[in-house]
Amino acid sequence: MRLPLVRFLAEGVFASSLAGRAIASVAGARGAIFFLHRFDCFPGQEAGHRVEELRAILDAVRRVDIDIVSVDEAVRIAIGQSPARRSRPFVAFSVDDCYWDFTSICLPVFLEFDAPVTGFVCPGLVEQNDWFWWDKLWYLASRARRSVTLEISGITFHVPPLSSAEGTEALNRLREGLKAISHDQRTHAVQQLALALDIELPAAPPDEFTLASFDALRAAESPLVQFGAHTMTHPVLATCSDTEARWQIEESISRVRAAFVQPSRVFCYPNGTQADFGPREMRILDGCDVAGAITTLSGALLPGSHTGQRHAVPRFTIGKEPAFAVRRILFGR
Ligand SMILES: [Zn+2]
Repeated sequence: MRLPLVRFLAEGVFASSLAGRAIASVAGARGAIFFLHRFDCFPGQEAGHRVEELRAILDAVRRVDIDIVSVDEAVRIAIGQSPARRSRPFVAFSVDDCYWDFTSICLPVFLEFDAPVTGFVCPGLVEQNDWFWWDKLWYLASRARRSVTLEISGITFHVPPLSSAEGTEALNRLREGLKAISHDQRTHAVQQLALALDIELPAAPPDEFTLASFDALRAAESPLVQFGAHTMTHPVLATCSDTEARWQIEESISRVRAAFVQPSRVFCYPNGTQADFGPREMRILDGCDVAGAITTLSGALLPGSHTGQRHAVPRFTIGKEPAFAVRRILFGR
């Protein structure tokens, strides 16, 4: 599902910069923020975007004269606070969670293209050298030798080994089920699964699930590379208590501001769907002096299109968006 965008941008009328410019001028300042996650890292749960694929995307965007702006600038445009009058289509790239492959594999490609990119980090997990709960799930399911049944919040989950025919689907079901419960319940459920499978979960993440350290992130910071807050430990904010939600948002923003010279002024919701945040989170953000917050709800940007919704600025995933939708987003046809 990833290739259509690359192909769409790289071939056909959009490979011709003349045609690209003509269409771009019709569309005016239409834009989009894309989000990426992992890169060319390991065969398994999520191999991520391949380097050649990423290079092809950036190359194609450059060739059709689409501006690549920072996430902060894209949000400023969308909320009507960018001083520059914009007549060309624009895209911005964000990378959520910042695993080791962000600094080692993804960044060199963006730098090769002089393209800005913003990484969104969870300072609590980075500082504790912890790992994401969904990676723990995958670690357990991929090592399971037998099926187990778990009762979580009144729902029964059948978890077969990942290698079995129904393994991936069952793991996805469990993952979605765990998003709906509190952080403590989720942590308990992962421990329950480890116990049931008799597999020990390492305290520190295995190499493939390691996050980029603050030292690595700070070394990568530059005018092209910014970092923003993504909560402390990546909870589903909507399932947090008021105190927890406030702490997750405020503390992560203040840690990121303290850690970087020029931190992003944009906050990024974990998961970012309609079920993950609401008016409470937006009210907390109102007090945090941020420009806006980005979601994973699909949607295009226009100058001032999100002035009244600055804490719900949409993004597109490159992995799943069909080519025709991207064409409509950026070129209006
Ligand atoms: Zn995330």
